[in-house]
Amino acid sequence: LTLLSDRINALSESQTLAMSKKSRELAAQGHQVINLSIGEPDFQTPQHIKDAAKKAIDEGFSFYTPVSGIAELRQAIAEKLRKENNIDWKAENIVVSTGAKQSLANALMCLVNPGDEVIIFSPYWVSYSEMVKLAEGETVLLEGPFENDFKVTADQLEKAITPRTKVIMYSSPSNPTGSVFTEQELREIAEVVAKHDNIFVIADEIYEYINYEPDYFSIGSIPAIKDRVITINGVSKGFAMTGWRIGYMAAAKWIADACDKLQGQITSGTCSIAQKAAVAAIKGDMAPTREMAQAYLRRRDLVLSLLKEIPGIKTFTPKGAFYVFPDVSDYFGKTDGKTTIQTADDLCMYILNKVYVSLVTGDAFGAPNCIRISYAASDESLTEALRRVKEALAQLN
Ligand code: PLP
Repeated sequence: LTLLSDRINALSESQTLAMSKKSRELAAQGHQVINLSIGEPDFQTPQHIKDAAKKAIDEGFSFYTPVSGIAELRQAIAEKLRKENNIDWKAENIVVSTGAKQSLANALMCLVNPGDEVIIFSPYWVSYSEMVKLAEGETVLLEGPFENDFKVTADQLEKAITPRTKVIMYSSPSNPTGSVFTEQELREIAEVVAKHDNIFVIADEIYEYINYEPDYFSIGSIPAIKDRVITINGVSKGFAMTGWRIGYMAAAKWIADACDKLQGQITSGTCSIAQKAAVAAIKGDMAPTREMAQAYLRRRDLVLSLLKEIPGIKTFTPKGAFYVFPDVSDYFGKTDGKTTIQTADDLCMYILNKVYVSLVTGDAFGAPNCIRISYAASDESLTEALRRVKEALAQLN
């Protein structure tokens, strides 16, 4: 271990992946594990997208692409952003990457100097703070109040800003809470940002299409701060394309150019075939995406109604993504006679070992009283999983 760099030694292992690993071990021993710990659509990529990829292969579209992506895709993204998000950027402002994850990492690497503060709205997606660490920045977690569906307010942000603040970042719809910022809330946040010339916003919109509210608002559409917003999105969640690895950012040209330079030295342009597929996704029929969102909405309601039947679980109604993030602290201090639950982590382990349902502790997302339940699973799995969870929790006194 000591021969490894300090950089990698400082990095934490993803607890989501750690839970998946433990579930696989139990499954290998023959247990019927239900995995609700991962953030992955259980749907197939729509057919017209697969067809576009097959065509690209058959036509021999197999060479290196420009680092920031093929012109056709960058153009399609720019048009999508203009039409759907009111974000007015050209193809030259778009950088396509190997997943939204790489887009986020690119943005942080290009903006953050050692010691710069990055305000992350918490609860937050685990990788954010690890990426900040890699960029040698300092994470400042700003906790949204439970009563406000865990959403940080503009007032809170104002108070958290210091002369060292460089970036603020959040996801909306949020992983892990499922909360979605309203237009009004984002306008108030933008007003605070507008007062500070050197602060940038990284807006992670990867769950945009899994949104149960009638409208979706992007902070990058606000002219006063447009040049300082980096909008992150991709095809992973909305088009059930997690393994295809296509994400993108839209940003001021000097930022996009810097990300092109970084990516050019690390990964080059992402997969040529997947880029062609992404063009078909972004320009094509949105009906499959809408159908998936409908299915997620139905499952959300199913999970919420089943959770209501379990005493001691407090939750709000998530407005997007595919997670429910209940507070389970009522169970802390309880025991089944053998195991005593002190933390959400203990509770997840207890549930996994007792009834083989895999969930993730809120601790992994900065909310130690909560657990994250992913409902990107079939109705039957969800019903059975929550029956088991109820049974396991009933044994705690
Ligand atoms: N941002 C958030 C909030 C996510 O939850 C995820 C995936 O779980 C990503 C980004 C990464 O998306 P991609 O698969 O496109 O890298």
